Amino acid sequence: ADGAHVAVLVIGTGYGGSVAALRLAQAGVDVHMVEMGMAWDTPGTDGKIFCNTREPDYRSYWLRTRTKAPLSNFLGFPIDRDIPRYTGILDAEEFGGITVYQGRGVGGGSLVNGGMAVVPRRANFAAVLPSVNPDEMYATYYPRANAGLGVATIDPGWFESADCYQYSRVGRKHAQRSSFPFVFVPDVYDWDYMEQEAAGTVPKSALAGEILYGNNHGKKSLQRTYLAQATATGRVTISPLHRVTSVAPGSGGAYTAVIEQLDTTGGVTATKTVTADKVFFAAGSVGTSKLLVRLKAAGVLPGLNGEIGKGWGDNGNVMCGRANHLWDPTGSLQSAIPCCGIDNWSAGGAFAEVAPLPTGIETWASFYLSITNNPHRAQFTWNAEAGKVELNWQTAWKQPSIDMAKTIFDTINAKEGTIYRTDLFGVYKIWGDHLTYHPLGGAVLNRATDNYGRLHGYPGLYVIDGALIPGNTTVNPFVTITALAERNIERIIAADL
Ligand code: FAD
Repeated sequence: ADGAHVAVLVIGTGYGGSVAALRLAQAGVDVHMVEMGMAWDTPGTDGKIFCNTREPDYRSYWLRTRTKAPLSNFLGFPIDRDIPRYTGILDAEEFGGITVYQGRGVGGGSLVNGGMAVVPRRANFAAVLPSVNPDEMYATYYPRANAGLGVATIDPGWFESADCYQYSRVGRKHAQRSSFPFVFVPDVYDWDYMEQEAAGTVPKSALAGEILYGNNHGKKSLQRTYLAQATATGRVTISPLHRVTSVAPGSGGAYTAVIEQLDTTGGVTATKTVTADKVFFAAGSVGTSKLLVRLKAAGVLPGLNGEIGKGWGDNGNVMCGRANHLWDPTGSLQSAIPCCGIDNWSAGGAFAEVAPLPTGIETWASFYLSITNNPHRAQFTWNAEAGKVELNWQTAWKQPSIDMAKTIFDTINAKEGTIYRTDLFGVYKIWGDHLTYHPLGGAVLNRATDNYGRLHGYPGLYVIDGALIPGNTTVNPFVTITALAERNIERIIAADL
């Protein structure tokens, strides 16, 4: 409520925020979480909370009047459609050279993501978080994160026989025929539930093409894991459809946050002020960076250091499709949850997940999201004239990612006698080089903050999300974001409370 005082305010309900809320509550601290997206706990008129990727409706996008699907075209035809402006679940946030996809709602990215829960290879960890002790991460915090998230791997026996993973078996065959290491990738989707979907005994979600705009069943999103545990303590409250716009030093070492209440068209219906002893920035890489860059430039938090806004990367994301021969169908039924990848990181700088194209029809396409070792890093800055935070990423900076992905797919195409698809991202366009699903950095650990996420210059202000990670995790990022948050909050609870 307006004028309230809380012990801890957490901005955002994604991975970092959920870990902070749970562990603080277990330590006896009252936590209030502020989330600008919706609660996603109430069915629409069709009886479903989330809409399907094949029929995007008002629930699909955050305050857009037209969908902006990551795959913009199919067989050369644009697939986007008009929708009513609504506080929908997926934000396609456009900066100059890149569209950054993010989840909006209680649970953050866990509501919309593929659930792929991958721990980086230990040999690569020093490049991911150079100031963090890998022994502690691999012995304690990665296992803790995996347990908290409910991570599991597909039953290899079921994988061999399931119709819905024909596309993955084709991906494996092509990888292995070109001698690339093929790996199963763990996920937070409930694999037993998926087997029941395939058997026809429960309502379908992954097997009905649900993913990008939420899963009505099966997915262990944060709503069902960390946040469920956190609210069960009785110490955590959540305000959905509330957006933090300012955090300023107040009296007695506390902070004053300004919070706007939103309606479902994005209009501001009330502005509230709350004071908090401690504030955790967990608005995601982009959300946290935008807040901190603006508050520093506006003189609200002038003591933040010069690292604020720096070190942002796209996790080297690049997409492509390959056209298979007619005798190599990938299946009309494709599970929307990926379960495997091709690991050419050490030889070529690319880790490619074998991704679904859950269109419901046979496409003869293999589709991949590659995570690559792209060296480019961008910076967020405040544009006073335009009144907004900008990001100086350039589309041409994806070229190293394309080159690294080609170390895998040029080889496979040569071996199989196949070609790239040119109809998925436009007309005669091979590479999906205009987007990322994995924004990382902007308030980097041990630079903008100390080695545990404490913001320099302001005792009681913390960053605890993907903004801490300097641009790349070598694999899908949320397990690393979760594990780092587990590490940092343990230290903060022990030393700062
Ligand atoms: P987020 O999860 O982004 O949470 C931040 C929250 O803060 C959001 O809910 C946001 O609405 C809220 N917020 C922002 N600003 C404000 C504000 N001013 N006031 C109040 N609230 C605010 N990663 C994987 O590891 N595996 C995958 O399979 C995978 N697939 C993905 C697929 C898609 C389509 C997308 C978009 C992402 C995917 N990711 C995946 C990435 C993963 O979801 C993110 O890395 C992760 O969610 C980031 O966690 P976070 O805690 O940093 O922030």
